[in-house]
Amino acid sequence: MSKGTKVPGYMQGKGSRNPRGIIGDREIRYKCSLQNTILDVLRGRPGWQEVPGQNNIPQNVQANPKQQGQQSTGQQPSNTGKSGSGSTNQGTTFGNKGSVRNPQQGPGTQPGVPTRLGDGDWDFYWCDREWLAQNYDTMFLYEHQKILHFRNHYELTRKNLMVKNLKRLKKQTERELGKAEGQSFEFFPTTYELPSEYHIFVEEFKKNPGIIWIMKPAARAQGRGIFLFRRLKDITDWKKGEYQPLSDPNREVPETYVVQRYIENPYLIGGRKFDVRVYVLVVSYNPLKVWLYRSGFARFSNTRFSLDSIEDTYVHLTNVAIQKNAPDYDPDKGCKWSTQQLRKYLCAKHGVEAVKNAFKGIDNIIIKSLQSVQKIIINDKHCFEMYGYDVLFDSDLKPWLIEINASPSLTASGKEDYDLKFGLLNDVLNVLDLENRLTGKEKRIGGWDLLWEDGPILADDGNMECTPNGTTASIPNSFLGCHNDRKRQLRELFTAAQSIKKS
Ligand code: ADP
Repeated sequence: MSKGTKVPGYMQGKGSRNPRGIIGDREIRYKCSLQNTILDVLRGRPGWQEVPGQNNIPQNVQANPKQQGQQSTGQQPSNTGKSGSGSTNQGTTFGNKGSVRNPQQGPGTQPGVPTRLGDGDWDFYWCDREWLAQNYDTMFLYEHQKILHFRNHYELTRKNLMVKNLKRLKKQTERELGKAEGQSFEFFPTTYELPSEYHIFVEEFKKNPGIIWIMKPAARAQGRGIFLFRRLKDITDWKKGEYQPLSDPNREVPETYVVQRYIENPYLIGGRKFDVRVYVLVVSYNPLKVWLYRSGFARFSNTRFSLDSIEDTYVHLTNVAIQKNAPDYDPDKGCKWSTQQLRKYLCAKHGVEAVKNAFKGIDNIIIKSLQSVQKIIINDKHCFEMYGYDVLFDSDLKPWLIEINASPSLTASGKEDYDLKFGLLNDVLNVLDLENRLTGKEKRIGGWDLLWEDGPILADDGNMECTPNGTTASIPNSFLGCHNDRKRQLRELFTAAQSIKKS
């Protein structure tokens, strides 16, 4: 990185032009703090080179040794050099102060910090949230640099904050556009934050005797700390243990929970409950620009659904982390279906129109949830986010938003899962287009379809799948669970973009 305007990421205006000019024809330098499929993708990308540095994962460590053969699908690792400085940190945090810039200095020239080749000298950084939280506020970025995560992503990905933001936008919508319009927000179950809303929750509880509630720690993941209950007594006992009296000097700050109405009538396939993982890419919050990935998966519970045993997590929680510990879990069969398989199954059972409506509901969930934080998220043009939405269908095929993850698991559970994630992540890089191969006007890039750009995007390509003939113009550009012929599409797209650029 020889030249470039150094402007704090969060202070950059719209005036700067040619964001990719700095990379030009040289290689693209990346950092990655995760040791899973994303590392394979980055290492396999032609023209991309890992930045040697103290905290990088050594290049002789394979993210997924079993799957290395997969990289030969036309994408050979481009970097054969050593990672340098004997990198040993394989954890998920960098804590690399060398990559934090003093605005007064050039990259890698901070006094007191050993200047190693490449320190802080990256174009692309797949960092973890902890690293960003520690470094973002003092970080200065060049025009073209791209980094994963928006600074305050937790506004959407902490369970309590997500609901708070959704409730606020719902209220505002009702006030400005009327009650009917507010109904389009009825996709998240009634939820209260504990301990702060305990009394409101108790009132609500008493109004609906006998229903089931689910208690979830606001900031934990993978089903940890979750339990279901029917009686207020269950929660008062829990509350005593969890929230010790204020007078106790050893008392820790109580963990925030959400208590949520349990969806008692999930859609069942083969008697089993499932939820759907949907991938969403946000490249800008202002204007809001959102891509929806065609592929994903449904995660099934291993045990037949029943409301008789509400304490059985294998019945009620569909997290793979939970299900893989079930005594009768079969790792070969796993507990996943592709979203394509799911859509096909549902179409055969309920007809194309009913399924289209159900999936439209997912589009609504995505857009409303992002709009609920649009004014709050610190919109930095260097940042992007790949969210993993968890959606549950009820027996009427109505989709419910369960939660949104800013770090959806990228570790593959098998070959099919690896192929999905490998393609998904490659397509994230294709959308970000640091190579500057595209025109910027695309509506589809590989498996990603542009769902929203300051307004809904409509499909106008008559050749797209899942669109009835002749009515394509009014159809949303949304193809979740539709055929994902990403490689062919990319080939055609790059060829077309090249000729447009030449002319
Ligand atoms: P975590 O972040 O720990 O995964 P989630 O909110 O995603 O927590 O919940 C874990 C699982 O519990 C979900 O995948 C889903 O199967 C189930 N679940 C969560 N909330 C509800 C709910 N309100 N109704 C029905 N099932 C739920």
